[in-house]
Amino acid sequence: MEASKDIVDMQDSCEPSEFSLELLLFSIAADSRTNIDVLNRVLPMIESIRDMEVAYRSQLSDLGLRAKERVNSGGAGASKKGPGRKKAVAEEEEEHECDTCRAHLPISMVHNSEEEVDYCLRHAIETLSQNLDQLKHCKLMYYYDEVRFSILPEDKH
Ligand SMILES: [Zn+2]
Repeated sequence: MEASKDIVDMQDSCEPSEFSLELLLFSIAADSRTNIDVLNRVLPMIESIRDMEVAYRSQLSDLGLRAKERVNSGGAGASKKGPGRKKAVAEEEEEHECDTCRAHLPISMVHNSEEEVDYCLRHAIETLSQNLDQLKHCKLMYYYDEVRFSILPEDKH
């Protein structure tokens, strides 16, 4: 698998940062005020993030990881509706980070329900390929499915 090795090298060279570059890029691309030149620069980066994501997900599925779940990140706002319900909020708000590299996981993660830890996809692949027993406790959780990566805003005004 030469392609996947390239991807790992690539991620090594641009280390995961404290803040989330991915989310920043997404919000730039999704903002209708973003001018077209900026957009033209941002979109290739989003595409490469997506390609990497797709490659990792297919490696995970090759390893045998089948369970996956879409996490609804927009859920928090919905609980604000009734004045009667005050609690609900905090639970879902926790930040997820990789147990191995401490990267934030704004796009997707693998959750191990036995150890109660999350991994970035890269370290999930590493961990799971050494310990296939853990597969049954693991689930891919994702905020963005592969389709939603193509945020190509058509209206630019
Ligand atoms: Zn990691």
